[in-house]
Amino acid sequence: MNEVKHAQPQAQQAPARPLYITMHENDNVAIVANDGGLPAGATFSSGLTLVEAVPQGHKVALADLREGDPVIRYNVVIGYALKDLPRGSWVNERVIRMPAAPELDSLPVCTRVPAQLPPLDGYTFEGYRNADGSVGTRNILAITTTVQCVEGVVEFAVRRIKDELLPRYPNVDDVVGLEHTYGCGVAIDAPDANIPIRTIRNIALNPNFGGEVMIVSLGCEKLQPTRLIGAGTIPIQKEGEPDVVCLQDEQHVGFASMIDSIMTTAERHLERLNARKRETCPAADLVVGMQCGGSDAFSGVTANPAVGFATDLLVRAGATVMFSEVTEVRDGIDQLTARAATPEVAEALVKQMAWYDQYLEKGEVDRSANTTPGNKKGGLSNIVEKAMGSIVKSGTGPIHGVSGPGEKVTQKGLIYAATPAGDFVCGTLQLAAGINMHVFTTGRGTPYGLAEVPVIKVSTRNDLARRWHDLMDVNAGRIATGEATIEDIGWELFHTILAVASGKKSWAEHWKIKNALVLFNPAPVT
Ligand code: CA
Repeated sequence: MNEVKHAQPQAQQAPARPLYITMHENDNVAIVANDGGLPAGATFSSGLTLVEAVPQGHKVALADLREGDPVIRYNVVIGYALKDLPRGSWVNERVIRMPAAPELDSLPVCTRVPAQLPPLDGYTFEGYRNADGSVGTRNILAITTTVQCVEGVVEFAVRRIKDELLPRYPNVDDVVGLEHTYGCGVAIDAPDANIPIRTIRNIALNPNFGGEVMIVSLGCEKLQPTRLIGAGTIPIQKEGEPDVVCLQDEQHVGFASMIDSIMTTAERHLERLNARKRETCPAADLVVGMQCGGSDAFSGVTANPAVGFATDLLVRAGATVMFSEVTEVRDGIDQLTARAATPEVAEALVKQMAWYDQYLEKGEVDRSANTTPGNKKGGLSNIVEKAMGSIVKSGTGPIHGVSGPGEKVTQKGLIYAATPAGDFVCGTLQLAAGINMHVFTTGRGTPYGLAEVPVIKVSTRNDLARRWHDLMDVNAGRIATGEATIEDIGWELFHTILAVASGKKSWAEHWKIKNALVLFNPAPVT
């Protein structure tokens, strides 16, 4: 497969006239840009006439395709025609066959390593510097839980902390219970259980929580607090810390006693968090997680290329940028191993892909199980096409490092943080990896938000940005209509990241939209 070109989409005409977008000169399909799609007979400035109606974001054949011919988008074979498709036909998932995923044992390694991107100096944000050198973009008290059993109690306590304590600590932004469904009824010693366990442990250490770790435990659960602390990743800084409140402890007589205990513990941490002050930090201290969800055919044309441009800017400024979502890079893994900075990075990429292939195989599916009805309605015929549009979030630089699901990332540069593509699972694992900013692109539209880290949402289409004007932070749809370039939106996103990192609220924060943490547990449940 060839490299995806980050070419500026070619706007053929003014937006009100029939308009299609091609990604590469070798492509034999393009997508219809017009809101609402186009009817049969619509003629483009190139002379191409639609032989049938084509919805917005869906593909039109630019040339006569014979049965078995490759269908090419992003200069990559995204499928093979299942029947003859004359020029001007609607090319959708029903008329193309998906190609096989690249074999993992014959990939190009470091064959197209891009030159290091030139440095970008002078950009800063106002953040909370932590003792370990990391920087928070928010000042949050997070209460780690070891098991779902304590959730109701923690929720009750968080409400009281917010009502009664938080007003006295005005520098603290929020109090968040890190609730999840793991902790008991699981094969805790299974090899793959290390993934959910290290995820919980590393989320507690997210830079936005200022190193103030407190844990609420039930007492009899499988995930004993010692599995989080004893492993050494949650450092014991002072005697008795991290604080653990155990609900089954004999000292607790009655519900009020448990709540008092959580509140007293919380207050000690609130006092210290309240002393944190924002200070000017270089953009190099940003750790940004890139993700897409509710994707359509515009994701890979507008929003994701703009994210890719911002990724390059961030990497040039010395920041850490993560891209993830294994099933959405699997079909372009040859591009990534070719871009790996070192053979070790390429090998680590392959290792993550192979592990995930096996994981999917156990469930008797493959990466094609990724695509949703909404993706297809939005014009994405299959996972190959979706992956080509997803990978462009990684920009154009060399890939500097790879991390496994739930591992903490300490390296700078462009990192592949392996996660499932499911939005909440990916977001949860990126939190564990240590992001202090999250960028999320969407075409179909999802109101996604996290309590733990600010989420900036980027719309792929003008129509979504218009309808969801108070949910989308950046509109990349203007790229499709020629009103803005990928570079324009990339810079806008970069500046938005710096502003939100400094305290400006994203729309998800404004409305307090908070999705649940969802742990990735590939190990058996008992
Ligand atoms: Ca996703």
